[in-house]
Amino acid sequence: MSVTDSLQPADPINALLDGGLRMLITSIVDNAGITRAKSVPARRLRTAVRDGIGLSPVFAVMCTDDAITSSPMVNGPVGDNRLMPDLTAVAPLGPDGAVYWAPADQLSQDHEPVDICQRAALRRQEERAIAAGLNVKLGFELEFTVFTGSADDPRVATLGPAYGVIPTLALEDFAIELLEALDAAGVQAEQLHPEYANGQVEVALPPASPVAAADQSQLARMIVHRVARRHGLLASFAPITVAGAVGNGAHIHFSATLNEVPFGDDGGPSSHAKSLIAGVLAELDGLTGVLAPSVVSADRRIPSHWAGAYACWGTENREAALRYVPGSVTSRPDSANCEIKIGDAAGNAYLSAAAVLASALDGLERRLVLPDAVDRDPASYSDQERSDLGIRRLPLTLEDALSALEQSSVIRSALGEAIVDPFLAVRRHDASTIGALPLEERVRALRWRY
Ligand code: GLU
Ligand code: MG
Repeated sequence: MSVTDSLQPADPINALLDGGLRMLITSIVDNAGITRAKSVPARRLRTAVRDGIGLSPVFAVMCTDDAITSSPMVNGPVGDNRLMPDLTAVAPLGPDGAVYWAPADQLSQDHEPVDICQRAALRRQEERAIAAGLNVKLGFELEFTVFTGSADDPRVATLGPAYGVIPTLALEDFAIELLEALDAAGVQAEQLHPEYANGQVEVALPPASPVAAADQSQLARMIVHRVARRHGLLASFAPITVAGAVGNGAHIHFSATLNEVPFGDDGGPSSHAKSLIAGVLAELDGLTGVLAPSVVSADRRIPSHWAGAYACWGTENREAALRYVPGSVTSRPDSANCEIKIGDAAGNAYLSAAAVLASALDGLERRLVLPDAVDRDPASYSDQERSDLGIRRLPLTLEDALSALEQSSVIRSALGEAIVDPFLAVRRHDASTIGALPLEERVRALRWRY
């Protein structure tokens, strides 16, 4: 090796191949919130990273049931985009380092940006936040249900008690391997616990910059599925996996310093945090159409389920759509954040994060005033009291949530028409097909899609 060679940065592709990579999976999350993947063997890695992998633009209008709908922006079988694996975010799916995953950007065949790329939409909002002097961190909380049996005959893996040590011990082997696999992939989960419903588990991901946080949520979900299969289990992130049971949320915690000023301190949210939260609060109806856009999402988002049924904010109020979290006295001010409870894993994490950022930035730009905090369960007020306090119930149906999204100029302009139109076409296809079925059948139709 010459002196010049040793000064060259290490070739990441050689490093992966030398480390034993046998296959690279690369994926996008589509407008149905479904992760769609393509894989290459080791010998094709260099070519795939240089040239990209072909991907039809109709993936933008692929629905939850794999039907292909159309929109004025994306129509028909003609055309090709490039799926470009982003090796800056590559991670092993298991500690043995044989299978790696990288998120993909969608580019044209001339390697130009394309306006249907969901990951690029988030990157634009991240750049906008940086330009405004913000250092935004997002942390996803992922809930899922673990089943034994088969996909045709699934049985919840644990029978409570909620948050109990018995389900903790029942899933101990799975949990240890999961946490180790996440660590090996660079996702340093903060905690894992059995949730309220039978078979339900939550894993909390660490705060990260927006695109990295959305990448990590995709990666973590893949690792959950993979480790579950290795233990003879099946996992589902669908918003409801068992009709009548408490559903699975995908809450987003967000915080931002502004020119080094923290998001909150002992006195509560700082002045810029108030405007950011006010921006999200103002857009919550349209955000519901992005963050909770499945045919069972409204069934999950009901009062007394900690799922954010009411548009209001409150300090440590788990029934408010926006829960301000001051954090422990020993971790403040770094731990102060705002939890957005309305979302679930049927949303596309890139679009969800982009829409949240755009709403927050709009609040900051317009210096929106945050209304008073709500310090009670909003369901405990009368309709009149709620209306006097400005607390509204978030959309009760998928159709209403999608109409609210359609009417939100803040979200539409941030995501762009080339994303919003196909997104609405996909979700409206779902609403008019699977959405017309009884709950039990809607749950069954979605259970193994997420
Ligand atoms: N499972 C609840 C949901 O659907 C969330 C419970 C919690 O706050 O962790 O959003
Ligand atoms: Mg939870």
